[in-house]
Amino acid sequence: MVSHDFDYYRPKSIQEAITLYQSLKLNGKKPKYYSGGTEIITLGRLNMVYEDAMIDLKEIPEYRLLYSSESRLIIGAGLSLVQIEESDPFPLLSKTVSEIADHTARMKITLGGNICAQIYYREAVLPFLLSDSLLMIAGIDGIKFFPIHEVFHQCLRLNDGAFLIQVSTDQKFIDAPHVSIKRRRQWNTGYPLITVAALKVDNQVRVAISGLCPYPFRAFEMEEWLNNDQLSIEEKINEALKHLPSPILNDMLGSSEYRLFVLKNTLMDILVEFQEGVS
Ligand SMILES: Cc1cc2nc3c(=O)[nH]c(=O)nc-3n(C[C@H](O)[C@H](O)[C@H](O)COP(=O)(O)OP(=O)(O)OC[C@H]3O[C@@H](n4cnc5c(N)ncnc54)[C@H](O)[C@@H]3O)c2cc1C
Repeated sequence: MVSHDFDYYRPKSIQEAITLYQSLKLNGKKPKYYSGGTEIITLGRLNMVYEDAMIDLKEIPEYRLLYSSESRLIIGAGLSLVQIEESDPFPLLSKTVSEIADHTARMKITLGGNICAQIYYREAVLPFLLSDSLLMIAGIDGIKFFPIHEVFHQCLRLNDGAFLIQVSTDQKFIDAPHVSIKRRRQWNTGYPLITVAALKVDNQVRVAISGLCPYPFRAFEMEEWLNNDQLSIEEKINEALKHLPSPILNDMLGSSEYRLFVLKNTLMDILVEFQEGVS
């Protein structure tokens, strides 16, 4: 049970949500956007969420949209991970989110809630980092699209009162060859030791990683080495590993050394799969 009372709102439009957030603040409340609610409820039970007004975004039509045009795929941030898996609009995304939590939790967890989560794995962001997607964000100054690499540095950098509405991805990435590998310490559900998602675009391998550092990231510097055709697969990986960000996690799930060992093997599997021609 959450030990403090909070007011609960379900605005029906983007503008209503933005206005509501501002007016609650002006009235001395601490508002918070609410999506699947799984993290808010979990942290609330631990007394780690103190906001007293929840603004549930799921009644907003644009937030739950799934739309594919000739040029772009639009995914509403309010879709649950199960809805994404079942409609399968972006195979790499479906594969990545299907490994998050268990089916019951994925029926509640939303794309937006995972990308904006406080817990640092945020695995659903990996396919969008790889596909240079655009994020549609609503704020006090209107609705704008931002390139993901402009606003997502370790976490989504939002101004106070802003929220993520949709993610827009160029169709050229949707059916590109891909691999997503999640290595856990044990069991088939739960947080990753390492998750690596990879996409091959214009014959170049792109890599994004969660679970290695206390944030998910696109491994731009590593990609340069992984795509160096002068090197063997082993040499590519050894060079790439010299360009890791820091710090490397060292926790109950695994030491930094063990994580690096698992990462090396995972990269090996990915490069071999691409060499053999994955779909
Ligand atoms: C059993 C279990 C196992 C899990 N395993 C994993 C795992 O392996 N990997 C992984 O990545 N995740 C995992 N998760 C999910 C993760 O821990 C979060 O609980 C989940 O991603 C939050 O999603 P939500 O939709 O419930 O968000 P909420 O709880 O609604 O919100 C989470 C945070 O994001 C903010 N927020 C939500 N939506 C928006 C928005 N549109 N714009 C701005 N801010 C917003 C909220 O204010 C809040 O701070 C697991 C969860 C469970 C329950």
